Amino acid sequence: MTTEYHSSNQERDIAYVVHPHTNFDTHEKIGPHILERGEGVYVIDDKGNRYIEGVSGLWCTSLGFSEQRLVDAATKQMSTLPFCQTFAHRSNRPAIELAEKLIEIAPVPMSKVLFQCSGSEANDTAIKLAWYHHRARGHDRKVKIIGRDRGYHGTGAATASVTGLPYYHVDFNIPFEWVLHTDCPNHYRFAQAGESEEAFATRLASNLEDMILREGPENIAAFFAEPVMGVGGVVVPPATYFEKIQAVLKRHDILLIADEVICGFGRTGTMWGCQSQGIQPDLITCAKAMSAAYLPISAVLISETVYESMKEQTKKIGGFAHGYTYGGHPVCAAVALETIKIYEERNILGQVQESGAYLRERLEEFANHSLVGDIRGVGLMQAIELVRNKETREQFNINQQVAGFVSKSAQDDGVIIRPVTGDTLAFAPPLIISRSEIDLIIGATAAALDKTEKWVSEQG
Ligand code: PMP
Repeated sequence: MTTEYHSSNQERDIAYVVHPHTNFDTHEKIGPHILERGEGVYVIDDKGNRYIEGVSGLWCTSLGFSEQRLVDAATKQMSTLPFCQTFAHRSNRPAIELAEKLIEIAPVPMSKVLFQCSGSEANDTAIKLAWYHHRARGHDRKVKIIGRDRGYHGTGAATASVTGLPYYHVDFNIPFEWVLHTDCPNHYRFAQAGESEEAFATRLASNLEDMILREGPENIAAFFAEPVMGVGGVVVPPATYFEKIQAVLKRHDILLIADEVICGFGRTGTMWGCQSQGIQPDLITCAKAMSAAYLPISAVLISETVYESMKEQTKKIGGFAHGYTYGGHPVCAAVALETIKIYEERNILGQVQESGAYLRERLEEFANHSLVGDIRGVGLMQAIELVRNKETREQFNINQQVAGFVSKSAQDDGVIIRPVTGDTLAFAPPLIISRSEIDLIIGATAAALDKTEKWVSEQG
């Protein structure tokens, strides 16, 4: 990227826009990278540079950037009924049809759907539903929520608390005192020497049960898990992990909330991450690829058992005291319905299985690279973890931002890949990506890794 910024858009951005996850001082010096348009899996910036979006924006633009059917679905609904709230018995056709569709395709039998606009809102809602459920059954003390180290669940005060990354806590007076964190299931990084995946899973389940017994099961409402962790480093759980975790949760009447915000709608090669990981959740949250990110919409899928207790509770105080203005927005729902239709018509799951396997095969070519410690992932959610020493798995100093250097070099070469937790680079392109486009991602990554290797050795 050039550092000369004269255009008025650059100056106006610096003058008026606050950017999430940005160092403001640096931003004032280098300015924004402004994208103008999208075409297939490419985005094009205001200087005409083209980039393959190797992480689908924020793991969300599953159908790329120029799907006309979604534009048409939005336009049609917007010119028919642009808004309808869903409070107090009011409803609209797209929200009804979308809820029905989600229940039809849910990975386990689910009963009802509650809509929001973002992943954070869905997860915040799920926390409240867990409390509501237990309270309805007279278990008022069941309030604690267990997240996992390196889990990511959103940016609201509650969801950032459940997130297990200290970076999101330190300056904000969180995590709340009712939030607990248990182990991250990253076998490569946290297993003991020689510990098998199954033994690691057994140890983590046993640590979880110890925590529950220490805190008192009567105080714990729910356990939150992404089927495959995204932001925390693309962590595929070890064999038997969820089986063992679920047995512990069942024993202590603790709800399992599956955060499908990234995994949902095909990313892992099955419609839901729960299917690829054998999870039977009580609540499911989803967002992002539900509408291919063309409009913001999220949902919580609710089991019959939880809905039954919610129904009892609404009888007690006269109603369900929760809801967002834009929940069940008809335009967002119409776009989501069209998105799911496209997934089904174009066999997107089959495509992800094929292209995911190809992406993985190509990433494996980096196995002998001096910087690459681990290659992991499932479907079109893959990653490489960078290390200072392949033998000992020693990490780089975090301030060195080695993954950031690789990502910047690849971007200069026309490919966007994203550093996530633990010097890991995430590869999560749109689900429609072709083999030749994957080849371009691999080419730019190979060059970026070599450039980084040189830079690292120069730094000593
Ligand atoms: N859960 C997971 C697993 C996520 O990855 C994210 C966002 N990356 C969220 C929740 C939060 O979603 P949003 O940014 O839409 O609030």
